[in-house]
Amino acid sequence: MDWIPVPRRRQLERVGITTIDGLLTHFPKRYEDRTRFDHFPTGDSEEPVCVCGIVKKTSLRRIRGWQKMFDVILEEEEAHALSQPITCRWFNAHWVEKMIVTGQRLVVYGKPKRSGSSVVLAHPEFEIVENDAEVSLHLNRLTPIHRATEGLSPRVMRRLIWDVLEHMEKTPVESLIPDSLDATPRGWALRQVHFPDNQETLAKARRHLVLTEFFGMQLCVAAKRAEQTSQPGASHFVADTLMQRLHAALPFPLTGAQQRAIGEIRADLAALRPMNRLLHGDVGSGKTLVALSAMLLAVEAGYQAALMAPTQILAEQHYLNFLRLCEPLGLRVSLRTGARREDSSALPLFENAVQRVPGNDGIDPLPDSEPHILVGTHALLYEGAGFTRLGLAVIDEQHKFGVLQRARLRNQGVAPDVLVMTATPIPRTLTMTLYGDLDVSTLDELPAHRGKIVTGVRDAAKLPDAVKFLREHLEAGRQAYVVYPLIDESEKLEAKAAATEFAKWQEFLAPMPCALLHGRIAPEEKDAIMEKFRGGETKALIATTVIEVGIDVPNANIMLIENAERFGLAQLHQLRGRIGRGQHKSYCILLRSPKAEAETAEKLRILEATSDGFEIAEADLKLRGPGDILGTAQSGLPPLKLGDPLADHELMRLARNAAFLLFERDPQLERPENQRFRRVLAETRKLMLSQVS
Ligand code: ADP
Ligand code: MG
Repeated sequence: MDWIPVPRRRQLERVGITTIDGLLTHFPKRYEDRTRFDHFPTGDSEEPVCVCGIVKKTSLRRIRGWQKMFDVILEEEEAHALSQPITCRWFNAHWVEKMIVTGQRLVVYGKPKRSGSSVVLAHPEFEIVENDAEVSLHLNRLTPIHRATEGLSPRVMRRLIWDVLEHMEKTPVESLIPDSLDATPRGWALRQVHFPDNQETLAKARRHLVLTEFFGMQLCVAAKRAEQTSQPGASHFVADTLMQRLHAALPFPLTGAQQRAIGEIRADLAALRPMNRLLHGDVGSGKTLVALSAMLLAVEAGYQAALMAPTQILAEQHYLNFLRLCEPLGLRVSLRTGARREDSSALPLFENAVQRVPGNDGIDPLPDSEPHILVGTHALLYEGAGFTRLGLAVIDEQHKFGVLQRARLRNQGVAPDVLVMTATPIPRTLTMTLYGDLDVSTLDELPAHRGKIVTGVRDAAKLPDAVKFLREHLEAGRQAYVVYPLIDESEKLEAKAAATEFAKWQEFLAPMPCALLHGRIAPEEKDAIMEKFRGGETKALIATTVIEVGIDVPNANIMLIENAERFGLAQLHQLRGRIGRGQHKSYCILLRSPKAEAETAEKLRILEATSDGFEIAEADLKLRGPGDILGTAQSGLPPLKLGDPLADHELMRLARNAAFLLFERDPQLERPENQRFRRVLAETRKLMLSQVS
């Protein structure tokens, strides 16, 4: 980058561009077809227009005391009878006032809106076009608009990148993907993505570069996978008598999907390489039971099994559940959370329940002082507490548990088998990106006889009706959840909000006994509250989203959620999964506040329309964009500059296949022709790490 003047280089550094490659992969955010401008708009339009015109006059006015309004009247260059000038308008935009003067030619881009007798583009993007030597670079072509920052306007960026491409003209550019994936020359693609000849060449170039980006990402995934497979693991399967006894004691049969998942896990447990499997499925599909079944297999083989939950409440819930199911099998179950540590002791009568199968000279039995099953919060990991012989770790993930922590678990001695569960279903299009290094089991079937949930979105003004509805059901013997949004994360305010909400609802529902539940209540107290609700003593639970996970009370068939628009769709779906668990028809009422934007309020309709968690997850993803879920620190994946894992998922699939094939044929990347991929891998990993720190 030596030929770039130092001040420019400093500016580039400030936006994170320090290399030629960084500059060349600073892709345009959009393109303007400046071979053929739009006609001047004559009215409103939701679509932005891109027009070119001459500045006829400018005016600067003070409004409301200190505010400034800067108007630029633009005329169409080859004006025809019908063409009307338009107004470009800026408020308090000092830098624009200094730049634009009468007589200039401007290209502007923005949404037109009729205001009185004129059409106004408010705060449009603009570029001053000068008739200089450079004009051919900026005009009469499909012009790239690069992301701009102070001092680095799109025009400056365009010029810089043009120069870089000119410099490159002589040096050959090596492709970073196998030709079999896409044989387009990288040099050509880079030129075309910045200065496309036409839409077709642009599409072809973009495809190549997206594949390159995805391939780099999938190389990391494939490398990790190859590493894992070569790691020494142990077989954690001997027999399934314990599991069979658990299943026989259940009041219901397993679903086909559960059986299939257990079969997949069992094969992994038996294999010598460490398991890395993702178990996902809709809320209520019975993931916990699959996890427990797997844990029993590991225990029977003489190992310990641990389950890590994202929250304390959930850890305790699992603990009580496991205790109830496992004590009769003669197993020791322990709970470890920041606040609590509890060990059950198995009844002596069943002490020898875990036996070595004759002929299996496996490992020594676990000492009596050691629990067979450990349940805890994710902190378990860091303490490394209590496992002398961890064979299987189940991570109840809830999106809060990143790839990096998973890696950490594996780094503690011999790799245990790992099963990751997600709280919500993940769209297929994303599992490849997010959990690319895992095998996947999907529970795509709900247990039979699940009650139906009717969901309705209502304006907050309808609250009195909703209260009436709630009261009727409570009087008929049912129970309800009321979820209020967490207003502030700080402890003090949270307690205050909770108190206010609680008082409000107590009054609404009097004389029905209500209870309050939120994240800051002490664990013992929480248990007591939950027990009372489970027992039917308390009729309504006023709670924050702590009830999102954990709770399972079949008699509770109503949920009312206030300010529902503040929650994500997947989260709401997860919440309402707490009802519809008994034989009564269930109702979920989503109240939206009057302040909610029409758009956000509209998204809630999706929940009325479908109860398919996969569909909702997909919709959620489209609404929020993958960024949220792909949050790089979370996922430990390199950032994407060009590709969209959703829209381009077919390219992701191709890139993934190519990366995995490469590692299959050359696991150490030793062949000379694969040395470039070794470099790509190192570069991508570096990028990944810089994202995390
Ligand atoms: P999730 O997949 O959302 O974690 P859970 O594991 O909490 O779901 O299961 C939800 C409820 O369904 C629990 O009460 C569990 O006992 C019950 N359940 C699990 N499997 C079945 C089944 N095959 N038939 C009926 N009920 C089941
Ligand atoms: Mg669960």
